[in-house]
Amino acid sequence: MSIAANIEKLKQQLSQNIKLIAVSKTKPVESILEAYNSGQKAFGENKVQELVSKYEQLPKDIEWHLIGHLQSNKVKYIIPFVHLIHSIDSESLLLEVNKQASKINKIQKVLLQISIADEETKFGLDQNDLLKIIDNYISNDYPNIAIVGLMGMATFTENEEKIANEFAGLKKLFDQVKLGYFKNQVSFNELSIGMSSDYEIAIKEGSTMIRVGSNIFGSR
Ligand SMILES: *Cc1c(COP(=O)(O)O)cnc(C)c1O
Repeated sequence: MSIAANIEKLKQQLSQNIKLIAVSKTKPVESILEAYNSGQKAFGENKVQELVSKYEQLPKDIEWHLIGHLQSNKVKYIIPFVHLIHSIDSESLLLEVNKQASKINKIQKVLLQISIADEETKFGLDQNDLLKIIDNYISNDYPNIAIVGLMGMATFTENEEKIANEFAGLKKLFDQVKLGYFKNQVSFNELSIGMSSDYEIAIKEGSTMIRVGSNIFGSR
């Protein structure tokens, strides 16, 4: 099937309140343009250099999402144009994003990445780190940041019940934070869970954003 047909098929499975991020890492700009011309405007990349290069070559109304681990020394290259950073996994990284955003008077939207999988290779904050950051955020420690939700990646396994449990745990944490700290605000609303292999489970568990690559662009 074509890229456009793959996107169309996915969109039919999504209710209006769930956003599709087309993950275009390793794929050429021609493939991104094909998706763009079919109406897809949100794309995700996991490497800064690749993201910057594609940003420069592609239409400026594309909404870029950084979804992979971000090194502090590379933050400055993406802040001028990135729409949402999904992968804030330490307070020092958050402070650097705040600093670079303040230089250009931008309020940078971010998600906090929470570690929910077994694999130690997956980056992310634990619950204590998360609550510390939220406390500091409420005390206005990061004036150029808008924390709009949480992101997580489930364990890579065929065990769907395990994946569902990990997503459900993150949804519970999301609800606790929202009720505890953001009760009257619409700004803490995003739960970025679900990829090609597990987006159907993620949707059942409350996803508001799915990040799908291979189901759209083919395997990498
Ligand atoms: C690559 C990647 C995805 C998409 O993976 P697919 O299995 O190709 O859908 C989603 N999220 C993150 C963080 C990724 O790095």
